[in-house]
Amino acid sequence: MARSGPRLLLGGPIAEQIEAGVASDAEAYRLGYGHAPVLAIVVCGHDAPSMVYLRQILRRCERVGLVGRLVEVEGEDMEADVVAALHRLAADPEVAGVIVQMPLPEGVRMRTVVDAIDPAKDIDGIHPLNAGLLRLGYDGFLPATAHAAIEILKRSGIEIAGREAVIIGRSTVVGMPAAFMLVRENATVTVCHSRTRDLRRHVRRAEILVVAAGRAGLVTGDMLRRGAVVVDVGINIVDGHLVGDVDFASAAPIASAITPVPGGVGPLTNALLLAHLMRAARRQAEARAGAVPPALVLPAAPGGPTIPTLTRGGT
Ligand code: NAP
Repeated sequence: MARSGPRLLLGGPIAEQIEAGVASDAEAYRLGYGHAPVLAIVVCGHDAPSMVYLRQILRRCERVGLVGRLVEVEGEDMEADVVAALHRLAADPEVAGVIVQMPLPEGVRMRTVVDAIDPAKDIDGIHPLNAGLLRLGYDGFLPATAHAAIEILKRSGIEIAGREAVIIGRSTVVGMPAAFMLVRENATVTVCHSRTRDLRRHVRRAEILVVAAGRAGLVTGDMLRRGAVVVDVGINIVDGHLVGDVDFASAAPIASAITPVPGGVGPLTNALLLAHLMRAARRQAEARAGAVPPALVLPAAPGGPTIPTLTRGGT
């Protein structure tokens, strides 16, 4: 009998479930507190391609009853102006979450900007405090893309514990947080990067492969272990088409499950960002009411080191 092909791990349907949960949480929040939580997107200067992407996030906010606010920073001293804008947003009680559009323009230091984000509003998990919480196994905010790469596995019922996981990419926003999350899910994890010798040998061992290198066609089917689960985080434009880092045509017949690009990790990333925003909003409102300490969520995840699967009200 002919093999029917791999299971496609689609982000869209999972994103819809998450957004439906966010929409009803947002409505309850608005009724309880008299305003919808605001997501502030800080943009330094004008950059047409990224504005297209940002407008998509703003539309998504509107669809689920959240408020998206673009904060465009222009000025002589861009770095000081961004920091000042971030301080204003930290003090604004209606703003529950803040993201800063990357990459930053030349002359604006990443570390200075990241340090100026209020960690309690850092819904994309880039502040060192949230990165440290993840590393220690506490519940901070997770970087949304890395979270999406792991959440798509969990929501699709893919077993992670005890399995051999290989990640290609060690960036602070995708590769490394994904590695820490997989360790928390009890996988045995190898992290590869541009200085890895014999990438093929490592990829061959992977029962779960997460690819986040930003290199189209880096992984081909002949490199894979038969039955591997492949999560392709890469986004590349080749001949005007959006493709991942994995050569889908050759990988699909070897993999047991694979995320397509587009349609895999991408749609889930924004949905998770909105779920993180709702979590931040609730937490800040409770802190203002004195129900919880006015800091981040500091206790260890209940019941052990795993990341709880997102459910409505439990993000
Ligand atoms: P990044 O900061 O450029 O990091 C890329 C990583 O890949 C680095 O660790 C680099 O190694 C490694 N790498 C590059 N070429 C390699 C090679 N030939 N062999 C092995 N490792 C290699 O990129 P990023 O921000 O992590 O993003 C990764 C990809 O995800 C990009 O395509 C990006 O567009 C995409 N992305 C997708 C989403 C989404 O929603 N789906 C969101 C964000 C990003 P070194 O550390 O040694 O340089």
